[in-house]
Amino acid sequence: MVAGGAGYIGSHCLRHLREHGIDAFAYDNLSEGHAAAVLDAPLVEGELDDRARLVAVMKERNVRAVFHFAASCYVGVSVKDPEAYYRNNVATTLELLSAMREAGVNTFIFSSTCATYGNPVQEFMDETHPQQPINPYGWTKFMVEKMLADFAHAYGLKWVALRYFNAAGAHPDGRIGEDHDPETHLIPIVLQVAQGTRDGLMVYGDDYATPDGTCIRDYIHILDLAEAHRLAMDYLDRGGASTAFNLGNGAGYSVLEVIKAAEAVTGCKIPFKIGPRREGDPARLVGQCRRAQDVLGWKQKFGDLKTILETAWNWHRAHPKGYGDS
Ligand code: UDP
Repeated sequence: MVAGGAGYIGSHCLRHLREHGIDAFAYDNLSEGHAAAVLDAPLVEGELDDRARLVAVMKERNVRAVFHFAASCYVGVSVKDPEAYYRNNVATTLELLSAMREAGVNTFIFSSTCATYGNPVQEFMDETHPQQPINPYGWTKFMVEKMLADFAHAYGLKWVALRYFNAAGAHPDGRIGEDHDPETHLIPIVLQVAQGTRDGLMVYGDDYATPDGTCIRDYIHILDLAEAHRLAMDYLDRGGASTAFNLGNGAGYSVLEVIKAAEAVTGCKIPFKIGPRREGDPARLVGQCRRAQDVLGWKQKFGDLKTILETAWNWHRAHPKGYGDS
């Protein structure tokens, strides 16, 4: 069961699982996801805090593992409305875990984040980096990781938490991609400006302690993320110990570098203004992801920024209004 399977990351993972012969379906309330994003996969509409329904669906469909993507994911919004974030990300995950116990489902792959680390205390962050989030979004994911460890200890839950850096790009065939409303992520905004569906772009701060003063992030292709989820389930099936893995590119790009690379890919000028810093943003987040490679056998196939931008651009050009249901 792919909870949040109609969302951006969930839909790519759902498709990847099905392309690898796994009988996966989406469970989604479509509050932010899109029915069209699941393509030909079954979509069960439902709420994550509807425990009775979750138990019934898991039993009916003989669910063996749950992939959990259904969450609110905007750092800036989480600072302004933490209540919604603790409710959507922590309280509902508790219901989901509790429903899994009742239905006898014991394998859980969790969509976590590098935001659980907070400000880096070392240049490349591996999984042993201290977890000291600096925004409510990061705290919500950190709290779930703690719940997972406790559920494993007390009830024998088997889990993997995948700490993503910045998910980006789209399936290369352009049928599914990123469509948030409102959109706050850098790459889709940059491409919407290139496309002319958005007037301009605000760069949030150019006074960070980075070479060009703008924030540095580690962008990872959505299909590389999807593959890691499947490998994480295989790893647990082989008897691997419950644990967390970073998933990133290992390379950092500043906001200005992303804009310049997007201009090269699209052939369009991308006008921008420099604005104030966005609350909750660390200057630099770059992952050290060797562990996922060594333990899960994960190998990135779409690693470079150009490919990420090309596949995202492909999606945006084919779907200037996204899925068209927002
Ligand atoms: N950013 C920006 N302008 C925008 C959106 C994002 O300058 O309109 C910056 C943001 O401050 C961060 C980086 O781009 O440094 C990536 O932000 P995004 O929201 O894509 O992902 P996050 O790192 O917050 O998960």
